[in-house]
Amino acid sequence: MQSPESAAQQNTAADGGAPNTGGDIPRKSTSGVFSGPLGIMLFLLLFGTAAYLSYRTLMTPDPVEPAGTSREFFCAEAQKPFEYSMNVGETYPVLSPYSHKKTGYPVEKCYWTRDGKRKREPTYVILNEFLGKNGDTICPDCGRIVVGHNPAPPDSIPLADGK
Ligand SMILES: [Zn+2]
Repeated sequence: MQSPESAAQQNTAADGGAPNTGGDIPRKSTSGVFSGPLGIMLFLLLFGTAAYLSYRTLMTPDPVEPAGTSREFFCAEAQKPFEYSMNVGETYPVLSPYSHKKTGYPVEKCYWTRDGKRKREPTYVILNEFLGKNGDTICPDCGRIVVGHNPAPPDSIPLADGK
């Protein structure tokens, strides 16, 4: 036979841990009601923040894009240079005023002659990367490698026409 005292002790212990006691059910459901909306609120807060940040990123113009900056292009079809300023989001090749097609590429200039002198009129060279080709871009006139922002020959190099 259990004494009333030890039975009370068992009840107290059951309140804290066992799920089937009468006192435990309301406490559990209360915590369930709280964790539900709290979790949803937390989710909405995080989701909303992420959505806002990506919205702001999409709506902010990219400052790197040099829109409106005119630079020299070269029509691959007409083999002529022309000035053009790209619009935002525009890609290569651009519309050529000569061919009236999208045959305008950014162009590099090579001022070398085949015998290692400078010339006044450059050879226009479209880099292979813009034409979708692999490997180094070779100047068809002097046979040198042409790179982006192709450096001009130093002033110490004599001009080909000697003047
Ligand atoms: Zn060259």
